[in-house]
Amino acid sequence: MSLKETRRTDPELAGLIDEELARQEACVEMIASESIVPLPVMELSGSIFTNKTLEGLPGARFQAGAGIADKMEKLSWKRAKELFGAEHVNVQTYSGSSANHSVFAAILEPGDKIMAMRLDQDGHLTHGSPANWLSKFYNHVFYGVDDSGRINYEELEKMAKKEQPKLIICGASSYPRLIDYEKIAKIAEEVGAYSMCDMAHVAGLVAAKVIPSPIPYMDFVTSSTTKTFCSARSGMVFCKEKYAKLLDKGTFPGSMGSIHLNTMAAKCWSFKYAASEEFHNIMAQVVKNAQFLVAELQKYGFEIVSGGTDNHLLVVDLRNKNVNGRQMQDALDKAGISVNKQVVPFDPAKPHITSGIRIGLTAVTERGIKEKELVKIAEWISRVTDAPEDEEVLKQVRREAEELMKNFPMYPAEYFGEQQLKNNYREKGLS
Ligand SMILES: *Cc1c(COP(=O)(O)O)cnc(C)c1O
Repeated sequence: MSLKETRRTDPELAGLIDEELARQEACVEMIASESIVPLPVMELSGSIFTNKTLEGLPGARFQAGAGIADKMEKLSWKRAKELFGAEHVNVQTYSGSSANHSVFAAILEPGDKIMAMRLDQDGHLTHGSPANWLSKFYNHVFYGVDDSGRINYEELEKMAKKEQPKLIICGASSYPRLIDYEKIAKIAEEVGAYSMCDMAHVAGLVAAKVIPSPIPYMDFVTSSTTKTFCSARSGMVFCKEKYAKLLDKGTFPGSMGSIHLNTMAAKCWSFKYAASEEFHNIMAQVVKNAQFLVAELQKYGFEIVSGGTDNHLLVVDLRNKNVNGRQMQDALDKAGISVNKQVVPFDPAKPHITSGIRIGLTAVTERGIKEKELVKIAEWISRVTDAPEDEEVLKQVRREAEELMKNFPMYPAEYFGEQQLKNNYREKGLS
């Protein structure tokens, strides 16, 4: 990570990497889909496997020179299946989105009906958004949450019986509560639909066994490997053994080209690491931190969607405050706290404005932030809410936030080259 050759050949670009490092280090990162990868994940993502082109599965490759990659892919299978207790895994998929493409390619025909979580209650784009190309090929129906902010399972069951979908998807990007996977799988079975969970947001919590797993219940489980899993920018798909062949064909040649062996290697490392006590402890603290922050924010009169959280994220409903989601995202960003605006259930505001923000605890927890620091962070969020346009307040909070984050470095200093450290805010200060 010294960027030695980049710095020599392209100082302009190297400068941007330095700036981004400084930004990440200085900022209280609370975008719920972000996490900080362990150093081996970064090393392996840039490893020699980048050079190798390969298609197909171990034993049935389309190119020569596959022997070592075969060993690595099989090792990934073994680790992933053990970690998640899964019958079958495909580790070739490029991302969470491409994991979903694999499953659709495996089991759906054009015109088939997919039932998923409402997009304005944060089902994912790939679950049926008209803005996503996949929606052109399928019919979509959507279930949602009730007034309490939790999935309405009765509505879900009624809709499934009436609509007779081919596939029922659960899993979302801003749902702070546990999902009753067993119940949804049962409903799918009753109506003869496939069941699928997209656990992109919670895969790390599932791997560390701090929340229940969808894998024993669902026909297919897809995931991104970023977010709480804290690994490479990539994906993974699990399924019941009886669907193994379909899934593998849906992945290649169904929806992908050559494998990204470099990120596969990084995932392989993470499948081992995620079974460790260290990872378990981080994930357990993530949930503790999220619940603690809910309680702190409630002291300042913030409304929390569904009244709390069971996982790594919480959604703040700002309608009782004098600020909308977009203003709050911008103000907090100026104050050194990174979140995203978020639609709340039955949100009267437009999707590009919104009435809420989503806050995730993964990245700050990885850096060592605990209850004591969250007391301050909650206070900062409250100060910004009360004066989102007061540049002095935003600047003051930013100074305090940067000061705090200095005590929680993302990576050991010796990992970076001398130049990178010199350019770093630890030397220069950002504000
Ligand atoms: C983030 C997300 C995805 C997409 O994952 P990428 O790795 O970004 O493609 C899919 N589904 C859900 C529910 C997500 O939150």
